[in-house]
Amino acid sequence: MTAPAHARTSADLIRAEEPVLAHNYHPLPVVVARAEGAWVEDVEGRRYLDMLAGYSALNFGHRHPALIQAAHDQLDRLTLTSRAFHNDRLAEFAERLAALTGLDMVLPMNTGAEAVESGIKVARKWAYDVKGVPDGQATIVVAADNFHGRTTTIVSFSTDETARAGFGPFTPGFRIVPYNDLAALEEAVDETTAAVLIEPIQGEAGVIIPDEGYLTGVRELTRRKGCLFIADEIQSGLGRTGRTLAIEHESVVPDVLLLGKALGGGIVPVSAVVARREVMGVLGPGEHGSTFGGNPLAAAVGTAVVGLLETGEFQRRADELGLVLSEGLEALRGHGVSGFRARGLWAGVDVDPALGTGREISERLMREGILVKDTHGSTIRLAPPLTVTADELRSALGTLEKVLGQAG
Ligand SMILES: *Cc1c(COP(=O)(O)O)cnc(C)c1O
Repeated sequence: MTAPAHARTSADLIRAEEPVLAHNYHPLPVVVARAEGAWVEDVEGRRYLDMLAGYSALNFGHRHPALIQAAHDQLDRLTLTSRAFHNDRLAEFAERLAALTGLDMVLPMNTGAEAVESGIKVARKWAYDVKGVPDGQATIVVAADNFHGRTTTIVSFSTDETARAGFGPFTPGFRIVPYNDLAALEEAVDETTAAVLIEPIQGEAGVIIPDEGYLTGVRELTRRKGCLFIADEIQSGLGRTGRTLAIEHESVVPDVLLLGKALGGGIVPVSAVVARREVMGVLGPGEHGSTFGGNPLAAAVGTAVVGLLETGEFQRRADELGLVLSEGLEALRGHGVSGFRARGLWAGVDVDPALGTGREISERLMREGILVKDTHGSTIRLAPPLTVTADELRSALGTLEKVLGQAG
């Protein structure tokens, strides 16, 4: 007999998943039951500071009051129409998102991977209709060590064997160059190139920040060679780095911007392709779509997210608290931290491998009430909600120091 969910312990619930849930994740052994702001609580009532924030889907913290209010209000009125009809929330969402990002037109989708897929389709169609690439020949240039999602086409141009092995045959038409290498990009882009697709900061790769000038260089190169610049800001965007978009650190505007994760306020999946009018204009009725994309609940929550970002408060917090984070990590350099990369409230921290794998450090931090996740090898990613306080951040850094001191 199965005990009612509320009577089952964390250990029971972890055991119960094993036979019935696909094993495509290896979660830390914590079972979250409640959350508010930067804090989550497990089934037994233990509290943890959430220093991962749903891979940046929770930039505004768990259950931000303005976002929860927007969702509740919309749930009481209208949740889904499909795009067969108009709904009264979508125009405002698109208007304000376009204005926030400095671009013209919005294609609403749901998950990040769908935004990437949609961006690829728009770019290819632009290449055929506007640039005049012969049919079926369009190429897209991407960077090694990218992470753009998990669909068959997206893993086609991943360089992570774990993400690819066993899933072929793959979609052709992609060229992979080293990240942060303008010379390689120059060589790879030719008259068939529809777009260069990159993350302005590579999140999953370990928060890899390109050299100053790289994004400007990509912008200049794509303009000069007559192809599109697609910036995947699904993880780096919406306040995380201390700006609305990470590309703003170099004052660059792409032709196509991909957003997701935090756009749904941690409540519903909301993603978008945002583009210049001449580019998005290639799509006509019936050529692309999504049953749930642009639904009124998503639009209401997305509009509330844009509303939070319009105040500038979260970008400012990320900027200021980012200094606290960087200073704290700098103090740990040589004391368990062999290196780190940080921008805003986002850091990839390389732990001295002698002290343990990223996974082991994450488990030790979990036992001390801090939730983080390793990326690769001995690297852990820190990405707390932008609502975290300076004291909470300092306390988390203190815990990291303690865990690194004990490890080995
Ligand atoms: C998470 C992520 C995606 C994929 O988003 P999903 O919602 O998981 O499909 C794409 N690009 C980047 C940069 C991401 O971080």
